[in-house]
Amino acid sequence: MAEIMESKNFIHSFIEEDIAEGGRYAGQTVHTRFPPEPNGYLHIGHCKALTIDFGTAEKFGGICNLRMDDTNPTKEDVEFVEAIKEDIHWLGFDWGDRFFYGSDYFEKDYEYAVELIKKGLAYVCELTPEQFKENRGDVNTPAVSPWRDRPMEESLDLFERMRAGEFEDNKYTLRAKIDLASGNFNMRDPVIYRIRHMHHHRQGDKWCIYPMYDFAHPIQDALEGITHSLCSLEFENHRPLYNWVVENVSVPHTPRQIEFARLGIDHTVLSKRKLRNLVETGVVSGWDDPRMPTLCGLRRRGYTPASIRNFCERVGVAKSPNTIPYAFLEFCLREDLNETAKRVMAVLKPVKLTITNYPEGQSESMVVENNPNRPEDGTREVTFSRNLWIEADDFLAQPIPKYKRLYPNGPECRLKGAYLIKCTGCVTDENGNVVEVLATYDPESRGGDPADGRKVKGATIHWVDAETAVDAEVRQYDNLFSDADPDAAGKDYLACLNPNSLEVLTGCKVEASLAEAKAPESFQFMRLGYFCPDSKDSAPDHLVFNRSVSLKDSFKPGK
Ligand code: ATP
Ligand code: MG
Repeated sequence: MAEIMESKNFIHSFIEEDIAEGGRYAGQTVHTRFPPEPNGYLHIGHCKALTIDFGTAEKFGGICNLRMDDTNPTKEDVEFVEAIKEDIHWLGFDWGDRFFYGSDYFEKDYEYAVELIKKGLAYVCELTPEQFKENRGDVNTPAVSPWRDRPMEESLDLFERMRAGEFEDNKYTLRAKIDLASGNFNMRDPVIYRIRHMHHHRQGDKWCIYPMYDFAHPIQDALEGITHSLCSLEFENHRPLYNWVVENVSVPHTPRQIEFARLGIDHTVLSKRKLRNLVETGVVSGWDDPRMPTLCGLRRRGYTPASIRNFCERVGVAKSPNTIPYAFLEFCLREDLNETAKRVMAVLKPVKLTITNYPEGQSESMVVENNPNRPEDGTREVTFSRNLWIEADDFLAQPIPKYKRLYPNGPECRLKGAYLIKCTGCVTDENGNVVEVLATYDPESRGGDPADGRKVKGATIHWVDAETAVDAEVRQYDNLFSDADPDAAGKDYLACLNPNSLEVLTGCKVEASLAEAKAPESFQFMRLGYFCPDSKDSAPDHLVFNRSVSLKDSFKPGK
């Protein structure tokens, strides 16, 4: 995974220069912002931006604002605002009392637009959106803008009347007067205001003209005193316009925009529009479906804040687009849970095991460590008796080559933390299916080791005591998309779905200590993977566990 890690963070280098003596922000506090559009839940891509925005501020002893980018009146939803806040706090970032809405600056945006008109740097245009496109020109031909020389007073009057609601949608726009021949099309007199008779979720019907993002964003940054406006690469071509706005309106600060590459992850899509579509068409159970790359989905799946932050930090800050294997995200989770998760035993596809020489009605308690990596996590007792559950695939009536688990007259195997056993046979039903495995145990091997030090040739297998086991449902997940790059431009991502991304197992048997298990505690089910109780559906009378991630070294028969 070394190639994934970038050692040098170019954003940090830029900032170091900026705040050093003689730099453009010498002596100033580094001030960043995270500006999500509240039209969906945050996904893992946003975590990268969060890590960069909040993490950079943290690194330089600065501050980071949270600003809802709700300039566009069409899509915002209050539900998302609260969810975004919850997700950011969950990751461990904090904006203090600096929570803002882009729409709170509408009045200022308007004043600055008027300022531009008065300076002869903006004018009211009458081209329809179609005509605007037709007149954009091309690389060799400048754009044509017939209203460019409209007298300032006339533009001022029309702009006021646009605000007053005198005109229908698209009748007029306000355009910045920059450079019709610019090689950068964003500079060819871009539209900075348009008429939209639409209700705004916070402003109500106060406005019927709305500023364009490219005009509003630099103003928001400048008014909040942002020093470094960090954004994804698609805004690189917009930077000249960003700087033009900051230079030409009388804002109190001069922020600097720096771009970084968006994060992509294979086997998933990272676009709110596509994710929303999966929710709305019922492909997944909701934004927090554990297969979703959303923060709430990852949280429900059992991801920890530390694992996600580690992932983002290691992925680094690249300047070119990069797609990271989903497996690397899993690696980061496994690494974290390996340290912290309690080891327990659970049997997902159970078959009965009877220890024929263990007295009926007898039971004993084995003391097991909760986490061998952390002795401070203590021990617990696990009961053992004549009737146990083991995984059905830990027994084969006819062994295959190299199979080291239970089969009639096979090798001595270790029941984890309990005793050594030897398989003596099995009971089958009328169809020949194995319904019970039979074995004898060595009473001298309590704890799982032979008294005489002989070598144990068979495998160590996990088990749960049938007398005390608790039933559970277990949901195992695989990639939501079988195609590695469903997000690629032009690809029909819905045709790339993995039909087997969810496997629900019922009648699983888990050890009694899990009866009270609750999210967000994670457990290692020995030999199987890391699991956590489902935060929505699990209850004491119906336990539901999600597989967060499998263990790396799962044994594959025949290998
Ligand atoms: P989407 O296409 O998913 O709607 P967006 O960029 O429109 O993404 P915003 O809510 O506007 O979503 O994003 C807030 C911030 O998060 C922006 O600064 C954006 O650049 C950043 N961001 C969004 N997706 C990614 C990503 N995949 N990698 C890195 N940063 C991202
Ligand atoms: Mg956006």
